[in-house]
Amino acid sequence: MGLIAGTSSRLLEEGISGLREAGKDFHRRGWSLGTSSNYSVLLNREPYQLLLTASGKDKGKLSELDFVILDAEGRATTASPEKPSAETGLHLAINQSLPWANAVLHTHSVWATLLSELHGDEGGFWIEGYEMLKGLDGIRTHDARLWVEIFPNTQDIPQLAGRVRERLIDQDRPLTHGFLIRKHGLYTWGRNLADARRHVEIFEFLFETTVRFRSLGRG
Ligand SMILES: [Zn+2]
Repeated sequence: MGLIAGTSSRLLEEGISGLREAGKDFHRRGWSLGTSSNYSVLLNREPYQLLLTASGKDKGKLSELDFVILDAEGRATTASPEKPSAETGLHLAINQSLPWANAVLHTHSVWATLLSELHGDEGGFWIEGYEMLKGLDGIRTHDARLWVEIFPNTQDIPQLAGRVRERLIDQDRPLTHGFLIRKHGLYTWGRNLADARRHVEIFEFLFETTVRFRSLGRG
């Protein structure tokens, strides 16, 4: 993949190595098995340049070539033989609606999948009172309540992306930190890749704790 105008080679190299590392870690922990999941880092806003994992790649073994760079409409800006992830529209929806969100991570864990189905009919569920909530950006006390919204799964990504955009900029109760897609997985984001990775870890802890607690007959 050649360098592109307006993108420093350092940013591109950091983005690629950071996402490869995230893929290895998430695969090892069972959150990105097989070729599931997709990850992105925004290299530049003006002009918009999004580094995204290519479609169909084993996330535990991402090579330097398993990425594409896209413009604001999701079109590849480099002559790469790779195709962008099918869920590109969701990455664009998130970092275009939230101007500070420069990294978006999507995973497919067992716990997220279980909860997304368990609460699918209600459209979401609350997580509250856990110390680990403080690992999410802007939450300063364990005495917090987080709504995890669940969207129906669909192959119509433009329609889902439109709905996600609306919810991210909702005046009354916008989505914060992340959301689930039913029987599918988690989307979360952060100011940078380190923040987004931390959010995946925090959500996974909270999801696993919630399901295990319930399977003990509590909660
Ligand atoms: Zn997915």
